[in-house]
Amino acid sequence: MRLEVAWRKFPKLANYLRHAGPSSTERGAVTVTRRLRQIYRGNFALAGDASGGVDAVTGEGLCLSFRQAIALAHSLEEGELQSYQHAHRRLARRPNTVGRLLLLLDRCPSLRRRALRGLAADPELFARLLAAHLGEASAKFLAATSLRLGWQFLSA
Ligand SMILES: Cc1cc2nc3c(=O)[nH]c(=O)nc-3n(C[C@H](O)[C@H](O)[C@H](O)COP(=O)(O)OP(=O)(O)OC[C@H]3O[C@@H](n4cnc5c(N)ncnc54)[C@H](O)[C@@H]3O)c2cc1C
Repeated sequence: MRLEVAWRKFPKLANYLRHAGPSSTERGAVTVTRRLRQIYRGNFALAGDASGGVDAVTGEGLCLSFRQAIALAHSLEEGELQSYQHAHRRLARRPNTVGRLLLLLDRCPSLRRRALRGLAADPELFARLLAAHLGEASAKFLAATSLRLGWQFLSA
């Protein structure tokens, strides 16, 4: 979507800005998955995209950054940053897995078709996957969802 199309969807905002001219060229950003071995040294700590990011397809970049900020605050309270490093790794695990899975589906059309057929046959499964993706699921729920996904995948 380009800006001139986006404006039409937000007429009120477009009206407020009708006399404003662009101050620079429109820019986009590349998205990459990046993992760093260490995210702190001495009394410096990285958070957000600077500390490594997940592919934008996960929609998790901001959520992850906020969770990292909370973990960093706890570590600062404890007076040591090693626990932040551990928490950071743990927080990145789920979005990284989902990101890898989605990029795999992007690369393999036959897998993608099978996955979409499976989800179309069991729409509740999609809701369950979203809940798992957002970290709103217990280990038991995840195990049951994985089994259901596996079955749909095989039978699609
Ligand atoms: C195409 C795309 C789609 C995305 N979609 C989503 C989504 O749907 N949901 C979601 O949650 N996340 C999404 N993300 C990820 C999200 O945008 C990032 O995770 C988030 O912006 C990270 O915030 P940040 O503050 O860590 O870094 P940034 O937002 O990159 O902020 C860093 C800031 O530092 C400034 N800066 C850099 N170097 C210097 C310097 N030397 N001196 C001073 N300033 C400097 C930069 O100009 C920038 O303003 C998407 C990302 C991309 C690229």
